[in-house]
Amino acid sequence: MGSVVISLDAELGWGFHDLERPPLERVESGRRGWRRMLDLCAEFDVPATWAVVGHLMLESCDGVHADHPTLDGWFDRERGEWADREDLRFAPDLVRGVVDSDVDHEFASHSFSHVLFGRPETDREIARAELERSLEVADEWGESVDSFVYPRNDVGHRDVLAEYGISAYRGRSPTYDGVRGLVDSTVRSRSMLVQPTVDEYGLIDVPASLFLFGFEGPVRTVAESIWEDPMVVQARRGIDQAVRNDGLFHMWLHPNNLTRERDDRRMRAILSYLDRRRTETDLAVETMGDVAERLAVARGIDGGTVAADGGPETKTADDD
Ligand SMILES: [Zn+2]
Ligand SMILES: [Zn+2]
Repeated sequence: MGSVVISLDAELGWGFHDLERPPLERVESGRRGWRRMLDLCAEFDVPATWAVVGHLMLESCDGVHADHPTLDGWFDRERGEWADREDLRFAPDLVRGVVDSDVDHEFASHSFSHVLFGRPETDREIARAELERSLEVADEWGESVDSFVYPRNDVGHRDVLAEYGISAYRGRSPTYDGVRGLVDSTVRSRSMLVQPTVDEYGLIDVPASLFLFGFEGPVRTVAESIWEDPMVVQARRGIDQAVRNDGLFHMWLHPNNLTRERDDRRMRAILSYLDRRRTETDLAVETMGDVAERLAVARGIDGGTVAADGGPETKTADDD
């Protein structure tokens, strides 16, 4: 069985609060894009893994977080420039939209305050605090957390994830984002399928295949004026590869990537194609948590430690 996973890094202001000059259009599109994605997923009944920054689930805060170990100045923007921008710092309304949806979305974590786990400055104490606080808030909401998406895909402190009971994380894509990835997958016909594996801590790495907005700016405008949206073409190719090869294709994006109508059109085209292929074939749409569970079952059956060659399905003679 082929399968497709979509994961979303849901963060609003937290995705940019450490940047000297946050990209305004994306900062201001976070709420818009979040609602659009919820609507589109509902329209096509496509479940996704929503990795949410824990701070967004608070109703309010003191802007200091004295008990939360961080780097100096980490919460400066929330206390300073964004002190009156509650809409960028809190979003229980939007998170409700995910957990109360009729679609079977997975609620996942994107840390508490978007700390970069792979940086040497992020010590174990900070990593643990980010996990602990996210899980605490989730627990107050009655939600459990199986999957984790690293801020900026900066993988680190995997042992801490395991310690806090996380099952899966999104690993780096084996292919390039943007134009180079497009050339690799189209001109060089490189596969966009990924292989989940089990790491030394027992975590399942569900690598990304394709960042859906890695092809932007003037290049995108020119490409679209001549051809169909190249990212839609690439996503369709990945979906078809999953069908043909019984593999996994994993797309990801931020809600704030949907800044304009043309971005909505891109996502609508991809989700409607996915929905169509799911109807025509045995293709499944899974969450990261589903993939982890499927592999855990497979490992239990064969007692192996490598997920790469095992699925839960028993192969039969006509299972080509
Ligand atoms: Zn705060
Ligand atoms: Zn992020």
